[in-house]
Amino acid sequence: MVSLAHRPSRRAVIKAAVGAAGLVLGGRAQLFSAQASLKADTTSNAIRLADDLFVISIPGEANVVAHTTGGGALLVDGGSPKASDAIQKAVASLPGGGPVHTLFNTHWHPEQTGLNEPLGKAGKTIIAQENTRLWLATDVTWPWSGQRFKRLPKIAQPNKTFYDTGELESGIRYGYLPDCAHTDGDLYVYFPKQNVLAVGDAMSGQGWPVVDWTTGGWIGGQVGALQRILTIVNEKTMIVPGRGPVLGLDDLKRQFDMYQTLYDRLTQLLNKGRGPGEAVEAKPAKEFEAQWGNADEFIRRSFESLWAYLSPDA
Ligand SMILES: [Zn+2]
Repeated sequence: MVSLAHRPSRRAVIKAAVGAAGLVLGGRAQLFSAQASLKADTTSNAIRLADDLFVISIPGEANVVAHTTGGGALLVDGGSPKASDAIQKAVASLPGGGPVHTLFNTHWHPEQTGLNEPLGKAGKTIIAQENTRLWLATDVTWPWSGQRFKRLPKIAQPNKTFYDTGELESGIRYGYLPDCAHTDGDLYVYFPKQNVLAVGDAMSGQGWPVVDWTTGGWIGGQVGALQRILTIVNEKTMIVPGRGPVLGLDDLKRQFDMYQTLYDRLTQLLNKGRGPGEAVEAKPAKEFEAQWGNADEFIRRSFESLWAYLSPDA
């Protein structure tokens, strides 16, 4: 078992999520299609968001946001360990790119933290929310699959952590997403000059997310985090999710509506005394599957996450 000592208070999280879910959205902003304005740079697998800001997109890997700073780069997420070399080469080949000097871990998963060890050994800055550092210093096992994750060596763990928010000298702002959409260490990074927001797996652009309730994520937190992200962005913000294409405000609003609907349906099933298998059979995400794919695994994890958060004896 993993230690749950640093989980946030369940009551506080529920309060935050219920408060967020109770809010009514204002008028619909005009559809903003972020994708239309992006140019693919096929030589480096990079999509250019601004002169100095790129998404490195390698098949099978999570999105890596690269901010080039003239002979160096800051990254949001670092890909999986096997992609380390490819990502560092891609970053070095970007205009103004070079060696990575700063890395954000949006959360602890291996798909985001593969560069930690080489960068830590090179004395570079690795920034994460404190809960992410704690998970990276702990062995974790996913009970639903038996998959085991070994703690990272000390040198690979984040060496600059925070609790709520922070700002770099360059004006880049970052903050905690305390709702626990995906894990209890989710963070966002906002690039104000380019109006780009990187949110890791707190949002997905492609496919259902993994609700990692072992390390604090839950479906109510997914609703709460999207509501919180709505307060950070404007109609021109380009939102980079952990996977899939760059999103805009309209995508965010649609996802918020969808997850709120799913949260309501799942809590109703829970209140009727149903179990995870029955929740899956009820097909509560049926009308969304054409866009997002088969939801069975997602529904099972989401329902289990309600047990973790809402059951009095969990
Ligand atoms: Zn993840």
